[in-house]
Amino acid sequence: ALEARNLRHTFGQTTVLHGVSLTVQPGEVVAVTGPSGSGKSTLLHLLGGLDVPQQGEVWWAGQRVDTLDTQSRATRRAGRLGLVFQHHYLLEDLTILQNVQVPLMLGGAGDLIYARHLLTRVGLGERGSEMPSILSGGERQRVAIARALAGQPAVILADEPTGSLDRANAQRVAQLLIDLAREQQAGVLLVTHDEALAASADRTLHLLDGSIVEDVPAPAAG
Ligand code: ATP
Ligand code: MG
Repeated sequence: ALEARNLRHTFGQTTVLHGVSLTVQPGEVVAVTGPSGSGKSTLLHLLGGLDVPQQGEVWWAGQRVDTLDTQSRATRRAGRLGLVFQHHYLLEDLTILQNVQVPLMLGGAGDLIYARHLLTRVGLGERGSEMPSILSGGERQRVAIARALAGQPAVILADEPTGSLDRANAQRVAQLLIDLAREQQAGVLLVTHDEALAASADRTLHLLDGSIVEDVPAPAAG
């Protein structure tokens, strides 16, 4: 599981998160909604160990990680967390397939066959030997999704793409992430502006001015 306890984060004089607590269980899909500037991306950065909170704790699989140094957090991230961020950091000097394999090199589970399988599932199976620079924004996002899943992490953190994709494509790509994650029983914490997508999650957290103001379970199916 992924757990945050009372996260508080400040940029300069501005407090962006005011004591946020949450848990994402393996297999659970949680949507995060909230207006622009409410702290969604900041929250994901802290949960992913890309930054550390001024106060509060971040736990991955029963281990507290916000007290570790940057290198130790990076090492422990592999196989525990998959990240899909607004600026999908593909490695431009590696091929598309090599990008998907990165978590395996860092000690994640899965193998080359699984990496190829994921690339096929995101519709890019024929393009593994090409370089990322020739891909469209949506294709890059799909590579980032395959990479996030390749180490078979317990939880995936995803910040929905905004600028580069139209609404229908953004929704399709995010739904693909949810479907693949459900298949391998990974938890998902997904930032989204899309009501339909949030409705397909198990639970929605609504963030307003750096606090969770609502935690809404999905209506029971049927
Ligand atoms: P959006 O929906 O537009 O992506 P968000 O909910 O992801 O918004 P954040 O990116 O988390 O919002 O930003 C929350 C607040 O923190 C904003 O007011 C933003 O300007 C500020 N902020 C974010 N990163 C930094 C930074 N590195 N330095 C200073 N302020 C920052
Ligand atoms: Mg954001």
